[in-house]
Amino acid sequence: MNAALDTAEVKVPEYGVYDVDAIRADFPALSLEINGYPIAFLDSGASAQKPDVVIERMNQAYRGEYANVHRGAYSLSQKATDNYEEARTKVARFVNAKSDDEIIFTRNVTAAINLVSHSYGRAFLNEGDEIIISHMEHHANIVPWQLLRDETGIVIKVVPIDDVGNFLMEEYKNQLGPKTKLVAVTQVSNVLGTVVPIKEVIDLAHAAGAKVLIDGAQGIVHSPVDVQALDVDLYAFTGHKLYGPSGIGVLYGKIDILNAMSPYQGGGDMIENVTFEKTTYRDAPARFEAGTPPIVEAVGLSAAIDYVNSVGLDNIARHEQALLAYATERLRGLDGLTIYGQAENKAAIVSFTLEGVHPHDIGTIIDSRGVAVRAGHHCAQPLMDRFGIAAMARASMAMYSNKDDIDALVDALNYVKEIFG
Ligand SMILES: *Cc1c(COP(=O)(O)O)cnc(C)c1O
Repeated sequence: MNAALDTAEVKVPEYGVYDVDAIRADFPALSLEINGYPIAFLDSGASAQKPDVVIERMNQAYRGEYANVHRGAYSLSQKATDNYEEARTKVARFVNAKSDDEIIFTRNVTAAINLVSHSYGRAFLNEGDEIIISHMEHHANIVPWQLLRDETGIVIKVVPIDDVGNFLMEEYKNQLGPKTKLVAVTQVSNVLGTVVPIKEVIDLAHAAGAKVLIDGAQGIVHSPVDVQALDVDLYAFTGHKLYGPSGIGVLYGKIDILNAMSPYQGGGDMIENVTFEKTTYRDAPARFEAGTPPIVEAVGLSAAIDYVNSVGLDNIARHEQALLAYATERLRGLDGLTIYGQAENKAAIVSFTLEGVHPHDIGTIIDSRGVAVRAGHHCAQPLMDRFGIAAMARASMAMYSNKDDIDALVDALNYVKEIFG
């Protein structure tokens, strides 16, 4: 093996105390200037920035460790395959899966949920069967079920939320019944920040004989996840929100469930034997990874997980909670500003409107001061309808967010208010 293949020089920092300045220094995008102002990046809920170790590790993999995986007998292909499979092991440990085979790489969380709707749906869901989602779901956890409903005649039930965004557990209990086959809910709302008590959701579903899929796109970013302790059946997340590259997502599934699910996409790498008459399929994870997978993205995700582990998800959560409290207090001080989502247990996401100003105008004007927030329906139109509005602005924080970001947001919002009189 030559020197270019040696990965030892990419180091991950060790933090004894939470040093947000040191963390920020690891993210090159955070030193950008936008319109002459230092960037205040408050859109990590849409996609997080990447630390140098991820960028460098991917660069290294493309330069010296790249070939297709699972195919070649030659060293370079073997190295690429090792990297890819080591990434699978890394993810399995990160979520505490029992076995690496329970980790399927997909394109993103959307693809993971679509995989479940097709493969679990084909194998287990028939006309009249019920699935339960919540009013806070991202479109990625609504539309695949509607497509399945149109095909098969399943019934979709929706757990309501209260005015501050709490998941209504009593209503959920009432909806569970002998026809419930699957519960598919988000762990954390990408709009309201609500942390859904998923352990209770899972236990209740199991008691009713149903399986559970959790959309962990926001959940896994803000606190540690242990799929065995949760006893969750299927858990999906996306790499780019976890400081990794775009183009890779993960579906965790209990191995018995995965192997009982029908194949999703057909093609290379997922088959045992093919003739024109009959094809047999491999077990998970290969069964669900048709075609060339996200090879270098897996390497990048692996580096992102090392980085997150080095900082510690518990530490990240503590830092973000302190910042959320600060942001909430400062934003509450602004006349005409309404915050949506004040659940008892909430992640570092603040969605809001400003009286008399369209959220898109907020987004555009504060961008002129270097502040990046998302404005729109946040892929959650039913949730917007729940509050009777078409759009919100959203500030979402990450491990590298700091008070300066929040102060810049508040200053920029005061500037918006000046403009609109
Ligand atoms: C971002 C997000 C998604 C979609 O993620 P993709 O990476 O675009 O597939 C789904 N659900 C939630 C809760 C999200 O925040």
